[in-house]
Amino acid sequence: MSIEPIFDPASWSLTDQQAALATSARELASERFAPRAAKIDREAIFPTENYKDMAEVGLLGICIPESEGGLGADLKTYMITAAEIGRYCGATALTFNMHVSSCLWTGFLLDGLQLEPELRKQHDQMRKLHYRRILNDGKIYSQPFSEGGAAAAGFKAFGTTALKVDGGWQISGKKIFASLSGHADYYGALCTALQKPDDTHSRRNTMYLAVPADADGVSVEGEWDPLGMRGTISRTLLFKDVFVPDEAQLMPLGVYPDAAVRWPHMFMTLTPTYMGIAQACYDFTIAYLRGELPGTPPIKRRMYPTKQLAVAQMRVMLEQTKSIWFQAISEARPEPGSDSLMRAWAAQYTVMENANELAQLAIRTCGGQSMLRSLSLERLYRDSRCGSLMLPWTAELCLDKLGKATLYNPGESDDA
Ligand SMILES: Cc1cc2nc3c(=O)[nH]c(=O)nc-3n(C[C@H](O)[C@H](O)[C@H](O)COP(=O)(O)OP(=O)(O)OC[C@H]3O[C@@H](n4cnc5c(N)ncnc54)[C@H](O)[C@@H]3O)c2cc1C
Repeated sequence: MSIEPIFDPASWSLTDQQAALATSARELASERFAPRAAKIDREAIFPTENYKDMAEVGLLGICIPESEGGLGADLKTYMITAAEIGRYCGATALTFNMHVSSCLWTGFLLDGLQLEPELRKQHDQMRKLHYRRILNDGKIYSQPFSEGGAAAAGFKAFGTTALKVDGGWQISGKKIFASLSGHADYYGALCTALQKPDDTHSRRNTMYLAVPADADGVSVEGEWDPLGMRGTISRTLLFKDVFVPDEAQLMPLGVYPDAAVRWPHMFMTLTPTYMGIAQACYDFTIAYLRGELPGTPPIKRRMYPTKQLAVAQMRVMLEQTKSIWFQAISEARPEPGSDSLMRAWAAQYTVMENANELAQLAIRTCGGQSMLRSLSLERLYRDSRCGSLMLPWTAELCLDKLGKATLYNPGESDDA
């Protein structure tokens, strides 16, 4: 199988740090995660061993600022690195994204935004606790935002509430599709802060809190037996009057909604997993047609013109996907212009849809023997279908936003 980088450092002008991290992720994932991926998928088990490996090489701290002892990767560097993990185990890459997001929000993203000096001081102090847990104790954070209503799509206040009480916050609510349920040490939950129980719920009062998995009142319910991404263990998380101390805040009160609006590229962090899957479908097809895929007879099929045409079509689609994705993540910055934002939606849509398109082309091209469960392609096919469903930038919502943004300038309306 090809182990060329997805993004060749010279061709794509990667920095030394980007090239080094992507290489180290590719080596780790191809050597250790790939052999474990089938069992993780088949039995829908969390990739615990992969997390131990990532902790060992410092990857759990990839986006913790260097000043705090981490590797100090920015958004783009993280994305290029994570794609190499997605190439070998989708469930590991997707859950890794939930963990890393807690560091990106609190580190690289917030460091790029103006904050009142008092808030900055408070934040710099608070985040140390979370970074220490990750770096010193190998703790894992997750990102349960979804609730089944319009909150995760960004249209409403979160139904999960954090009521101010003496010395901390009391959390109540329910999060669905909470990846790493029962496996994360801390659930980085978005909640609506209330000073009094009968306060009106407002998105402006969104709080980002790290809830210890073993706190009283935290429970995980429901089964997890989905089509794909089976190792993510995205079950339902319940918070019943869970007390967390003030220092559980990942960001000062009210900062998250502003950060989310000013840093829209952050929502692209779900894409590297699927960029990796797109590459894996192509890798599989090449190796299979050359008769070099481990676990299959050495039968060459590359001499048939139909196969050559099909694989050329896959290469075109892969190049298109890589190019728009790389360009979009290169433009990631606070308050991007509307052209840049539209490209980010187009890139998100392209990666999520093309990963699945490439998986189905790979099966059609390689043929019946390629979709046996003993091979990775059928898992790639199932995992790839999940990308378009991820809120807030589902494939549908990307088209919805893009359609409006192309025809209306900001503030324009046809309402009388
Ligand atoms: C493998 C996997 C892992 C996940 N892990 C996590 C996680 O760790 N944390 C987390 O927070 N979430 C996670 N999710 C949840 C995900 O982001 C969605 O919340 C979840 O898939 C439920 O979405 P739904 O399609 O049922 O949503 P619905 O709200 O029923 O929406 C259905 C579709 O309608 C469209 N839609 C929704 N709202 C609007 C609107 N207001 N206007 C127009 N169209 C709209 C969207 O395209 C959406 O896909 C995960 C999902 C999967 C599949």
